Amino acid sequence: MKPIVLHVAAEVSPFHKSGGLGDVLAGLPPALDEVGLDVRIITPRYGEASKFASLGGADALKPWPVPLQITLAGQTIDVRVYEARTHRGHATTYFVEADHLSRGTIYGYGDDAFRFAIFGKAAVAIASVLARSRNVGPVKVLHAHDWHTALAVWYVKALASSIRGVPAVFTIHNLAFQGVERASSAPYLDIGWDAFHELFEDHGTLNLMKGALLVADRITTVSPTYAHEIRTARYGHGLDGLLRWLAGKVRGITNGIDVHAWDPASDKHLPAHYDADDLEGKAACRDALRFDVGLRAGDAPVIGCVSRLTRQKGIDHLCDVAHEIVRHGAQLVVLGEGEEDLEHRLHWLQTAHPGSIAFRRAFDEALAHRIYAGADLFAMPSRFEPCGLAQMYSMRYGTIPVARATGGLVDTVAPLHNIHDVGGATGLLYASDHADGLADALHWGIDVVRDRGALHHMRQNAMRADFSWESSARRYLELYRELGV
Ligand code: ADP
Repeated sequence: MKPIVLHVAAEVSPFHKSGGLGDVLAGLPPALDEVGLDVRIITPRYGEASKFASLGGADALKPWPVPLQITLAGQTIDVRVYEARTHRGHATTYFVEADHLSRGTIYGYGDDAFRFAIFGKAAVAIASVLARSRNVGPVKVLHAHDWHTALAVWYVKALASSIRGVPAVFTIHNLAFQGVERASSAPYLDIGWDAFHELFEDHGTLNLMKGALLVADRITTVSPTYAHEIRTARYGHGLDGLLRWLAGKVRGITNGIDVHAWDPASDKHLPAHYDADDLEGKAACRDALRFDVGLRAGDAPVIGCVSRLTRQKGIDHLCDVAHEIVRHGAQLVVLGEGEEDLEHRLHWLQTAHPGSIAFRRAFDEALAHRIYAGADLFAMPSRFEPCGLAQMYSMRYGTIPVARATGGLVDTVAPLHNIHDVGGATGLLYASDHADGLADALHWGIDVVRDRGALHHMRQNAMRADFSWESSARRYLELYRELGV
């Protein structure tokens, strides 16, 4: 029987997703199955945030026959688990339902640490049942993703259970979110004071990610460049010293994308289809996008952006340069939601430049696909970017990313150096921290769009680049092998 690798994550697309984390848990499991692992995933079952349409509805979930009760801070909590064959038959997913945890949205509650402590305990309980089962292979690795699962790593190491001693991998998808709580929360999360002082204490607060980094057997981040950056004060979010110290167990493995779900030749959200050999459908997608979002018809270059609206993503810089982009004859369409001041600025920009700037405040998967396909350039002015998927989707759709040279953007975009000698370039990278750097890069991008030869060459490079999950899965397998799989 194949060895089991158990992934634990707060997001798994298409069931529940707020960003790239959900996409990773959609794309990586099938690729790990292909390299010979039995991939099982443990994730919450939220309220309205969880959608099961892809399985044909919630009826496809089988209630787990094993009753589960966990204790947390002396309280007994009933947990309901549902099992389904997911990922087109490549994985099994266990959905954990419990009071407090199963609310309307994924995150954003004052008691999130407590909610994910319940989830962590439930994950360890499920893992223990699997480890004792004779009908499945041995549980070889517990692979936890981001701070929400930090406590699962801790409980695996600390609790007396049949999976104690199973190696744990902890993946940092975004170091900016560490799960920081008041120190007084420790007892409510079953973190004793010794463990608090040795592992979780961070300048007087309780830092869940810090504890997981210390106890995990391996740490990964989602790109090699980010794996280096997080060891520096600039990108380390206060944990750079610790990460320098732990450098021997840190690896950077670049994310892939689901090239079946994201394929302009067959994407159900698009009004026309195309591929690298025949790009005609892309022009139709661009016209339809302009019409959809209210941009003026014509041949102005279209700059797209699909993003959480945050300073991390540099959306303030995009707002700063929007006026100048329009003056330069380009159009801008932004889809996203996030920080209120950025939403207000984008609304204002749309009002100030009707027909040239369009803003949709929404989380809209279909429109996201239509922007990736219909835009000429894709703006990604991130201050930091652990990996970034949006630039890979845009390249897959022949849309040239204009991105700040940081993190995974460096690892996935082959930068243009000379418009007269495109070579293998797939996008534009700029180094500056300032909005001016973005403005210059976008002007350059607009020049590329107006140079038909260079544009065509870059589009073909971008669309032919290999962003599939296979090579990442092989890297994860190597890592698991180091841990005895
Ligand atoms: P992050 O995970 O930091 O938000 P990524 O680039 O790794 O950034 O992944 C973002 C994912 O979320 C992409 O799939 C992107 O298309 C999607 N996304 C972000 N905002 C929206 C939105 N408003 N509507 C639809 N999809 C969105």
